[in-house]
Amino acid sequence: MARYAGADCRLCRREGLKLFLKGTRCYTEKCAIARRAYAPGQHGAGGKKGYHKLSNYGGQLREKQKVKRTYGVMERQFRRYFQIASKTKGVTGKILLQLLERRLDNVIFRLGFALSRDAARQITNHGWVFVNQKRVNVPSYLVKSGDSIELKAKPKGLEYIRQNIKLALERAKPPWLDVHSEKFAGKVLRLPEKDDIVMPIQEQLIVELYSK
Ligand code: SF4
Repeated sequence: MARYAGADCRLCRREGLKLFLKGTRCYTEKCAIARRAYAPGQHGAGGKKGYHKLSNYGGQLREKQKVKRTYGVMERQFRRYFQIASKTKGVTGKILLQLLERRLDNVIFRLGFALSRDAARQITNHGWVFVNQKRVNVPSYLVKSGDSIELKAKPKGLEYIRQNIKLALERAKPPWLDVHSEKFAGKVLRLPEKDDIVMPIQEQLIVELYSK
């Protein structure tokens, strides 16, 4: 699958917040958001810290890019999620966020078993993730309420996960997931709601962008 191959920290600096894209580094003082809290590029360190006032369209585009990059999905796939959300009964923006949150790679990240969604994708691709006791190696798999999730790997792999869990302790655990770190397991208690996502997202802007 195609992936963004540029400098991850630039993406965080562009959005002005931590997107946790680089694993261990994001949890140290080396984090670029901590060291250079202004937008990248030659105008970045200017008076407005590079975060200029945006047009309507610019704001909508920025919001879409932020969400897309946070979850690590490419444009085509993101648009597909939007189409599913717009055909589903309910508020389109909220359903879109719910679909993204339900991705298996995101869940592994949220449970604290990986330090970034990218690392969670690798863990899933390695075949270490079991949903309801069946191996699932598809990062885009959508979890459902009541699903149980377990990680099984060789001792070296489990040690890697254990280190991740220690570092991820500083991240808040989402209330829709139950985690049993010592067993490398978790459970989906219910589907995620907008309020469960700590990052500020104006999903309505994305709906407006795609509805033009
Ligand atoms: Fe880079 Fe991670 Fe900090 Fe983002 S959160 S700027 S990816 S180190």
